[in-house]
Amino acid sequence: MNFLEERIMKDGIVKEGNVLKVDSFINHQMDIELFREMGQEWKRRFEGKNINKILTIEASGIGIACVAAQSFGVPVVFAKKSKSINLDGEMFVAEVVSFTHKNVNKVIVSKKFLNKDDHVLIIDDFLANGCALQGLIQIVQSAGATVEGIGIAIEKGFQPGGHMIRNLGFQLESLAIVEGMDHETGEIRFREQ
Ligand code: 5GP
Repeated sequence: MNFLEERIMKDGIVKEGNVLKVDSFINHQMDIELFREMGQEWKRRFEGKNINKILTIEASGIGIACVAAQSFGVPVVFAKKSKSINLDGEMFVAEVVSFTHKNVNKVIVSKKFLNKDDHVLIIDDFLANGCALQGLIQIVQSAGATVEGIGIAIEKGFQPGGHMIRNLGFQLESLAIVEGMDHETGEIRFREQ
């Protein structure tokens, strides 16, 4: 087991509805030393890639992306969730269905912060159905920029997102892949990597 899998076993809580709660170390209280190790691991896995920017989505991707960005020495841009329907032409826009909140958000990135010369690493905390990633990929592609890779902390391998994203040909590096979990027993099984 790697460092993240060990931490999930220790502090992760399996909830009903295929939700893994990691709010004591990832998405409410944040363990920055753990984030630093995650950043270094992505740096190792994307060695040799020409990455000049990290893109994530608010809210829970931001902390991880910022700490990872220190390993890469690049800035972070986060896609904002927007309720406004009257978006001016200054924004790249994508629609994202939220796994946790079951609603649809427009996510936006200003055209000032993404352009065709950018080589982007996308970072997020979870991968479930892949809607958040599809939206971020769409935004990068609308800018004419290049997706160099995708770093995910926790992929739920029993949901379709990972398969879909790998089939599209992206280098997807998930630090922990949960194969199955049971909210009654609390059991969590990981895919061997
Ligand atoms: P997707 O778009 O891949 O279906 O879901 C990804 C987003 O939903 C992530 O950004 C994450 O915030 C949230 N999410 C999905 N599954 C889980 C989960 O099991 N636990 C938590 N805490 N968030 C999740």
